[in-house]
Amino acid sequence: MKRLAFLFLFLAIVLTASAERVKVRLFSNNNIEALYVSFDLGLYDLYSGDSLLLEASLGEGMTVELIPSTAGVKVSVNSYEYGTYKQVILRATDTACIMCLNPKGVKQRTYEGNLVVSAFDARNLRIINDVDFETYLAGVVQSEIYGQQSDIFRIQATISRTWALRNMGKHRADGFNFCDYVHCQAYQNRCIRPDIMLGTMQSSGETIVDADGKLIDTPFHSNSGGETANSEDVWRSALPYLRSVQDTFSFRMRQSNWTKVIPKDKWLNYFAKTHKLNIQDAEVRNTLLTFEQPHRKAKILGVPLTRVRTDFKLKSTFFSVTTDAKSGDVVLNGHGYGHGVGLSQEGTIRMVSLGIAYDSIIRHYYTGASVHKDENVSERYVEHFVTEISKIIEEDKANPGKVKSKKDDWLGKLFRVRDRMDREEEFDATKQEMESDWKIEW
Ligand SMILES: [Zn+2]
Repeated sequence: MKRLAFLFLFLAIVLTASAERVKVRLFSNNNIEALYVSFDLGLYDLYSGDSLLLEASLGEGMTVELIPSTAGVKVSVNSYEYGTYKQVILRATDTACIMCLNPKGVKQRTYEGNLVVSAFDARNLRIINDVDFETYLAGVVQSEIYGQQSDIFRIQATISRTWALRNMGKHRADGFNFCDYVHCQAYQNRCIRPDIMLGTMQSSGETIVDADGKLIDTPFHSNSGGETANSEDVWRSALPYLRSVQDTFSFRMRQSNWTKVIPKDKWLNYFAKTHKLNIQDAEVRNTLLTFEQPHRKAKILGVPLTRVRTDFKLKSTFFSVTTDAKSGDVVLNGHGYGHGVGLSQEGTIRMVSLGIAYDSIIRHYYTGASVHKDENVSERYVEHFVTEISKIIEEDKANPGKVKSKKDDWLGKLFRVRDRMDREEEFDATKQEMESDWKIEW
């Protein structure tokens, strides 16, 4: 009983302490006709709305089956059918809980936090992950950028945090904060890499602000091709911090260059039919066949390049036109990948590898902006966590084979570090009693 009382105390304090949670719709790009949930770590409660159906008994070896119907969600646990409910909640009993989601016909993923499931209709589940904001963010960083150095992840985390804080209400009408797709930010799994956790932790409390201290819009793209774009050349508004800048750091990376071959007739007829250009006019024709962009332009003969990019599914608007001498086809020689506004991810990866400071990198891409550190985020907490994760990464490097085979071990270790810090911050008074009662190692 005493143990149970502590459990409730622990949960109550943790839940109020971690008020910064977000609701993210998962598999938002798919129709989910059935979802099977298994449990990799920790125990979960099962609720139907507010009613507790199963207390702390969903764990390893259990599978929850969720099927949509017009009446709600049909729930079975290890093939035993519980009933059909409007809303089903799988609630984590601790911060160290991991569930594995296996939707029918879609690749499985793992997530932390709680799961709230209802039915859109008889053929599609609405699956929401109710999760700690920073845990969500680490998952976003893992989905949005590649790389090896923690500063890369620190920058992506700061950008993604700034974006998320500005866009908390994006899906308010739908009853959640974000979807897990690029419409918001990709969140394709929980974070499983310690170097990404480290970078996200290092960026704790950091956001990007303008000269007035306001959160800025933080668009990013894969590769600028050597020069970023002005915001008004891609979208409508001219923002002072989204200016075109020279970006040689984006050269010689995976997405630096591309080519696309298009039949000459198709290219010319597109401008004639869709944009009413007179392609019989020699000057018009010549411009369309020899267009060049020594620097980024916004239009070709008055036609927005963003429109051309969409219609021909081009990697970027930053291209020049030549004609293949043999076939006579039009060849587009392009640079970069993405809209080109704001931060170039591959430019960032290159700058970090050159040892350029992370805040200088952010200032390079967001003109006149700066990194703001929230003073309410405890330095001690961050420092401790960063030290612990760094140790795990060092161990990983020293014994790669061993650690790889014991992947779950270091994941567990990361969770234990985080839990311990949560408890140290909040539980000094009860720490002694918990030690003797729960045999917890601090
Ligand atoms: Zn969205």
